[in-house]
Amino acid sequence: MRFDCTIIGGGAAGLFAAITAGRRGKRVLVIEHNDQVGRKILISGGGRCNFTNREVSAENFVSQNPHFARSALARFTPDDLLRMVRRHGIDHYEKKLGQLFCRHSSRAIVEMLVSECRAAGVVIETGCTVSSVLAAADGFAVETSRGTKHSRKLAVACGGLSFAKIGATDLGYRIAKQFGHKIERTRPSLVALVSAGGGDPSLAGISCDAAVTTRGRSFRDDILFTHRGLSGPAILQISNYWQPAEPVTIDLLPDIDLVEKARTKRMSKQTAANFLSEFLPARIASSAIPAAIAAKRMTEMSDRDIAILAASVQCKSIEFSMTEGYDRAEVTLGGVSTADLDSKTMASRRVPGLYFIGEVVDVTGWLGGYNFQWAWSSGYAAGSDI
Ligand SMILES: Cc1cc2nc3c(=O)[nH]c(=O)nc-3n(C[C@H](O)[C@H](O)[C@H](O)COP(=O)(O)OP(=O)(O)OC[C@H]3O[C@@H](n4cnc5c(N)ncnc54)[C@H](O)[C@@H]3O)c2cc1C
Repeated sequence: MRFDCTIIGGGAAGLFAAITAGRRGKRVLVIEHNDQVGRKILISGGGRCNFTNREVSAENFVSQNPHFARSALARFTPDDLLRMVRRHGIDHYEKKLGQLFCRHSSRAIVEMLVSECRAAGVVIETGCTVSSVLAAADGFAVETSRGTKHSRKLAVACGGLSFAKIGATDLGYRIAKQFGHKIERTRPSLVALVSAGGGDPSLAGISCDAAVTTRGRSFRDDILFTHRGLSGPAILQISNYWQPAEPVTIDLLPDIDLVEKARTKRMSKQTAANFLSEFLPARIASSAIPAAIAAKRMTEMSDRDIAILAASVQCKSIEFSMTEGYDRAEVTLGGVSTADLDSKTMASRRVPGLYFIGEVVDVTGWLGGYNFQWAWSSGYAAGSDI
């Protein structure tokens, strides 16, 4: 069969573009090298897939062009996806901050996509690896482990570099470069950070609420101490904005005026460490402040001591040397530059009939369902144009 479009990658973006184009009567082939589609969806959200967020706007994404995502997000919104999820009877709930999860299993989302593909007449070939792509007179020739596939149009939906063990490859970036597209520097993101001075093993496994700030961006959520540094949702969020050599400031008590509280305790014989442990897990309290201050009684604390105590806890500057890498990162920051893509259709401005969608594009969402919403919305944009 001759196809109107070949889609490389049977992940969220590829399947959604296929459904959208298939519904419009286009003959679509999806090629996936895993033996099943949607493997990243299956492991996402701890197995419950945080498939979207109630509130999504371009501000929830990082890109060299902060406005690029706007058009696609407006054309296919979280409500549009929710309608499909409800039509398939998928039980879901809001965990926090608008994050919508499957109540039982991510598998429901993969099953929904596969059944929509079937209804739209999409052909899916799993266990088929794409090695290269050539421009042909009447479209594209896609070289695969099962021979050459020809089609008029080609959508590249092969994702980023994170989690190679479940199928990530650099093919999308290679195809983009081959056709003259610029790649914005890629790096692991939504990922734990490694402290420059090494982690504090005595704190590993403890988590607490914190406000985390770098380069003018702040996130408030839990942080988790690890053997090598910090993790937890607030750290994953800030990893989208962190730059090597730029410190991250942590406020371990964002709702408390610690100076004020300490002053009211000036008659107390308790140590500064004990005073702090009223607000923080004891192990964090004693390690956060300098030993000389931790051992002082509150009666002995000068104004300067109190200022040091408060700064150590509420304005703690940490230098990270690197991230925990692609094997642990939920996404790849950077990717195919949006400069040569049409924001309404995801079509290449350089090569007619070529599209880039999903994570391979230089659009990276916050933690909280935003990356899947980008996959659905960009997939829909391309699928409507193919
Ligand atoms: C552990 C984890 C949890 C996550 N949880 C969430 C979450 O809860 N919410 C959220 O919004 N985001 C989450 N994400 C991010 C989200 O999964 C991705 O942003 C999203 O899946 C990207 O979709 P995509 O279709 O662009 O790429 P992918 O889902 O990566 O799909 C690309 C597909 O292309 C295939 N492929 C690659 N190379 C080739 C080749 N040469 N030939 C054939 N096929 C190829 C791959 O096997 C893959 O199936 C999570 C990511 C991870 C790693």
